[in-house]
Amino acid sequence: MWFDTGLEYEATKRHIKELELKYGIEIEPYKADVPIPISCKRYGQPFISKKASGYIERLQKHGFQWEDGSFEELYARYPRCKAALRWWCNEWGEGSRFNIDHTEYLKEFMMLYPPESVGIRISPKCCDGAKKNVLHKIINERKYDLNISGIRKFEGGARATAYKGCFDEDEDTGCDNYRPIFWYMTGTKALYNRCFGITNSDCYGRYGLKRTGCAGCPFGQEFEEELNAMKKYEPILYTAVNNIFDKSYMYTRMFNDFRKAKKADELLKREAKT
Ligand code: SF4
Repeated sequence: MWFDTGLEYEATKRHIKELELKYGIEIEPYKADVPIPISCKRYGQPFISKKASGYIERLQKHGFQWEDGSFEELYARYPRCKAALRWWCNEWGEGSRFNIDHTEYLKEFMMLYPPESVGIRISPKCCDGAKKNVLHKIINERKYDLNISGIRKFEGGARATAYKGCFDEDEDTGCDNYRPIFWYMTGTKALYNRCFGITNSDCYGRYGLKRTGCAGCPFGQEFEEELNAMKKYEPILYTAVNNIFDKSYMYTRMFNDFRKAKKADELLKREAKT
């Protein structure tokens, strides 16, 4: 089965055809409930991470003023935003990845440049409509009891850190999760490819991408590299993602510049002290 998010590389589509021919199998396409382009228009664009986008969406909905203050003060003013305010006020406990401080300088940045000041509406809903809901629906409909996915711990990112091992049971759905390449390192992957004659999609081989999720997803540090490769190899898709994620790219670039400047400042201060 292949989940078509509505934003896919031609290389991915070609690769699916190649796999069907090579192994004599049929890979069934399955359309997103709400394709990413529609979701971004309807609810807003993703920014930084799924978690942060969810909290920001909630705060925007309640007219939050991106102000500093204690959790108690702000909660009294925005009583329907408890979890999001805990994120904003770093109330999840020291060092927690649920705190806004987990993303260095994000809070300072948002206080200085609120999303409304650049006209962006933020939302993680494209993940639900294009992936999560579709997966749950199909598991329910077809009563699958094992979900096998290709997540590797060493690829990093939120998905990889969310799991502790290669297997876990899911009592709610009755469908357990198996991640057979979870512990593979980059060398193991290369060895496996050699031993079993695996040909990767052009996204890896030709375009040089390290990972492929939704084309042009603004999350992660490598989105600029991905856009450069896309411009060269899939210019039509490049134009599309720049329309769909326009505001998110702009806001992310603003944040990255802000963070870079802050870090450079800190370094100068440290050097001046020594
Ligand atoms: S991975 Fe990125 S583009 Fe894909 S659905 Fe999630 S937020 Fe949207």
